Amino acid sequence: MLQLQRMRRLAGANCLLWRRSATWRSSTKNASFSEVLQLEDKKLTGVVFPLQGLEKYLAPDVNTASFRTFNPGLDDIHRAEALFKPSGRHVIDYFSSAVRMDHAPQLSQPEVCFVGRSNVGKSSLIKALFSLAPDVEVRVSKTPGHTKKMNFFKVGKYFTLVDMPGYGYRAPQDFADMVEAYLQERQNLKRTFLLVDSLVGFQKADNIAIEMLEEFGIPYVFVLTKIDKAPKGLLVKNVLEIQDFAEKHTQGCFPQLFPVSSIEYSGIHLLRSFIAHVTGNLPMMNS
Ligand code: GDP
Repeated sequence: MLQLQRMRRLAGANCLLWRRSATWRSSTKNASFSEVLQLEDKKLTGVVFPLQGLEKYLAPDVNTASFRTFNPGLDDIHRAEALFKPSGRHVIDYFSSAVRMDHAPQLSQPEVCFVGRSNVGKSSLIKALFSLAPDVEVRVSKTPGHTKKMNFFKVGKYFTLVDMPGYGYRAPQDFADMVEAYLQERQNLKRTFLLVDSLVGFQKADNIAIEMLEEFGIPYVFVLTKIDKAPKGLLVKNVLEIQDFAEKHTQGCFPQLFPVSSIEYSGIHLLRSFIAHVTGNLPMMNS
């Protein structure tokens, strides 16, 4: 509680400055952690820890231990955000694209990649993660049949984020050819984020990605997208279904899933911290 009060005082000053100098746009509200710290407690929990925010909708006998597997303090989350803010010497930018593994850039820093069905909200999520670096251009190729690429983004010297082509009935071959080779060969890959739409839950096509990740022993984590759009009952159903699946049927999956809204920035700050953590850039204060 004290930590929260102290951080709010600090953030208050920043926020006041920010409000005077910038026009309030609802689409960027809550993008930075200073703004989130101004929210009242219940709203703050919902935005920063959306999984914990759902606990009140669960039956009392549901085991929520895995909801806190990754449980950084507010200080940790604040520190992690610095990685996503560009400055003079810390450049965050699109680096290159590749359609084949032998065209992929040779980068030695830790890497994370994002996979999911077309339309799952992958580009929106990557844009939200990079919302504090508005010059970063997240390229989207939506034309059916058009070859999709792996897009590499460099976050200074700290890590690389890779946007993989979306899979689904329109692009199964792109996905199999590119992503399989990438997952098998990429030595510096630290974590794969597998996106599932909270409105539709698991789909058949997700099995292709899950089977590949399990077969190659790649550590991965589920991200549940568009949570602002899903009715609470459906959201809870999909959360429990995915957590149950992760616990019973997977080896390499992180037990906690990450619900996010790229529009309201719910879960985005926690996800930034998790990326900082798995790429070795966030020694946790609380652990
Ligand atoms: P991609 O094909 O996986 O890159 O998906 P996009 O990021 O292009 O998103 C597909 C559609 O879902 C678009 O119409 C987005 O505006 C919408 N969308 C993505 N994320 C969210 C979200 O968090 N909330 C809501 N309400 N809509 C979203």
